[in-house]
Amino acid sequence: MAEPDPSDSLETQAGKVQEAQDSDSGTERGAAGREEEMDFLRNFFSQTLGLGTQKERLLDELTLEGVARYMQSERCRRVICLVGAGISTSAGLPDFRSPSTGLYANLEKYHLPYPEAIFEIGYFKKHPEPFFALARQFYPGQFKPTICHYFIRLLKEKGMLLRCYTQNVDTLERVAGLEPVDLVEAHGTFYTSHCVGTSCRHEYPLSWMKEKIFSEVTPKCEKCQSVVKPDIVFFGENLPARFFSCMQSDFQKADLLIIMGTSLQVQPFASLISKAPLSTPRLLINKEKAGQQRDPFLGMMMGLGGTMDFDSEKAYRDVAWLGDCDQGCLALADLLGWKKELEDLIQKEHARIDAQLGSEAANPTTSTSPRKSPPPAKEATRTTIEGEKPK
Ligand SMILES: [Zn+2]
Repeated sequence: MAEPDPSDSLETQAGKVQEAQDSDSGTERGAAGREEEMDFLRNFFSQTLGLGTQKERLLDELTLEGVARYMQSERCRRVICLVGAGISTSAGLPDFRSPSTGLYANLEKYHLPYPEAIFEIGYFKKHPEPFFALARQFYPGQFKPTICHYFIRLLKEKGMLLRCYTQNVDTLERVAGLEPVDLVEAHGTFYTSHCVGTSCRHEYPLSWMKEKIFSEVTPKCEKCQSVVKPDIVFFGENLPARFFSCMQSDFQKADLLIIMGTSLQVQPFASLISKAPLSTPRLLINKEKAGQQRDPFLGMMMGLGGTMDFDSEKAYRDVAWLGDCDQGCLALADLLGWKKELEDLIQKEHARIDAQLGSEAANPTTSTSPRKSPPPAKEATRTTIEGEKPK
């Protein structure tokens, strides 16, 4: 990847200000003195006036190494993680919203009008059965958190995790030891369920829902007999209020964004990258680059700082590490000197989960059925923009 000269446009702008000042005062100073003065001015202005509107360059180079050095500096205290399906694939979890994963192949008997109907709240209220049949196939509790999940847990233990915003509903962040306060589950969670009856809304725990799903009984409210739905966000439902309230307060405080396993194509989640101050470095760990919106109109809609810029001559804060999320986290942990600690944590936690699953195996309602790989569903109408419907 291109590594821009650290003395890029920011420094050039700084130079211009300095030139103007030099001609006023008529003095000549060395580059070192100039830098020192510019640092002072930058800090002064960002603290007193511009609060986050200054494009200060905080990374000494736009690489994983540069990010690691920044993370080890005093300046980087609060990290926000933004994560998507890519952090759970190594746990064996397919992206269950995608009709092309094969999960949908077993649903032909339900005659869905189109695959996404399964996640539409209106359809669900009339026909909940296909959703629960799908849920049985990828139910939380059958999967173990990944290296990437435990890397986020380690950030928490180091006191650096401000928040983890996840698009996943698999609850693996919780299984990995993140607490509700650490999390914004933007697309909801399986962890709790509620009766869909508008005047009832009775809450049910994961264990209750799990028992119903594995006994192949459509979960019905014990109070009013309405269907009970896991608290995942369906098409046609609002994101949790917590998403918006945390977003308002978190991002201005963020010293670093780590974006993992997401192609940043689902709104409003994708727009979170634009909420941090303009100086805040953003590290993307993903199979391919994301967030680089080429369409200038869409770029404008995303707002200032909305699009990622990894390689232009103006790039100053965005770093892309391309590859598997787990490998990216291991590489970063290694650079931070945390690798051994991360590996020990994973070993300990996975052993704990194995012991737990072993003790549950006697209970037929929680045992896992052997997983087959059915052929891809015929209707591979993958839509990535939430709410967009296939024709
Ligand atoms: Zn009810």
